[in-house]
Amino acid sequence: MLSSKACMELEKQYGARNYAPIPVVVSKAEGAWVWDPEGNRYLDCLAAYSAVNHGHLHPRVLKAVEQQLHTLTLTSRAFYNDRLGRFLKRLCEVSGFEMALPMNTGAEAVETGIKIARRYSYQKKNIPADKAEILTAYRNFHGRTTTIVSFSSDDNAKKDYGPYTPGFTNLPFNDLEALEAAITEHTIAFLVEPIQGEAGVIVPDEGYLRRVREICDRHDILLILDEIQTGFGRTGKLFCFEHENARPDILLVGKALSGGVVPVSAALADRKIMDVITPGSHGSTFGGNPLACAAGEAAIDTLIDEGLPERSAALGEFFREGIRRIDSPLFSDVRGKGLFIAIELKKEAGGARQYTEALKKRGILVKETHVDTIRLAPPLIVEKADLEWALGVLEDVFSEG
Ligand SMILES: *Cc1c(COP(=O)(O)O)cnc(C)c1O
Repeated sequence: MLSSKACMELEKQYGARNYAPIPVVVSKAEGAWVWDPEGNRYLDCLAAYSAVNHGHLHPRVLKAVEQQLHTLTLTSRAFYNDRLGRFLKRLCEVSGFEMALPMNTGAEAVETGIKIARRYSYQKKNIPADKAEILTAYRNFHGRTTTIVSFSSDDNAKKDYGPYTPGFTNLPFNDLEALEAAITEHTIAFLVEPIQGEAGVIVPDEGYLRRVREICDRHDILLILDEIQTGFGRTGKLFCFEHENARPDILLVGKALSGGVVPVSAALADRKIMDVITPGSHGSTFGGNPLACAAGEAAIDTLIDEGLPERSAALGEFFREGIRRIDSPLFSDVRGKGLFIAIELKKEAGGARQYTEALKKRGILVKETHVDTIRLAPPLIVEKADLEWALGVLEDVFSEG
């Protein structure tokens, strides 16, 4: 096996430098734990940005995927396959929507949601051609395509990738007045994350989502919720919108939908909206492939049968309160919902990166987001004893200052 050093050197030599990873190589995983080639063990407190909510190599998901791997993997949508319908039925049942459009990555689900909203507004609501405006939030993260970075407010994600796609307006997040004031006759939708993940687990005020739903209803615009990171149990409910009964018109899911095995995403809506999608108007070669569907169906069943959203709620409370109790002079805020937690460091801490690297040396893998924030989002199957151990490590690292 290649050493950690050799792996990192190969990546640096041959890989485009679009990431700045923590200097650790992961070569094996099980549950909430991962190992490097030298045999060191780490608690995975990132869980691939919440794609690994089920834990690594969940046996039930693996079994379904292994069986499918030896049966049928790819047909394209030129033909029906025997896994797609049953997967979409299950996805619709648990999310409460009538129809789903399967894609692969999260960004593709977001692009799909934008296309559905635009078509619906032109065909069903008489918005003049090419005038549809979608409202979005500052510090959003919805993916990396050229259209999506067009409405990013992160210069690093956006700079020199223009010309940008028009039709989007950014507003302050968690600001109901700004939302209401921004709506014009050409506004068709508000696209938002229920908790802003990449911005640093920014939890809006209680009641925000419910009132967003009311405003969208009052002005007859679509609410598009991006639950690609918050979905599938991460915040202590199956979907974050359930905390406030703020069911969107279009729901975007991805990441944990496959239990972290293969990329699977989807846009969900009711028939009256999804009907604007007609044959040939949208698609993906790998979207809805039988392997992805087998993973997705098993991942959904596992999540429900094992009560992972409830587990996230209980362990999240325990972990967050434990972190608050550390009461480090370096912390300016500890926030989150379920096992979706962020520690905000004071400016004088000198940036989160030194702490994420220190935590790595002590056996905890986390990644800083922006300069001063550390996100903690372990797999939802993590054991309470593992979190107790992690609290001890956090206490050591942050009281050493
Ligand atoms: C990760 C993420 C995406 C993009 O998903 P990819 O699979 O990386 O394209 C979109 N929205 C949110 C909220 C995300 O966290």
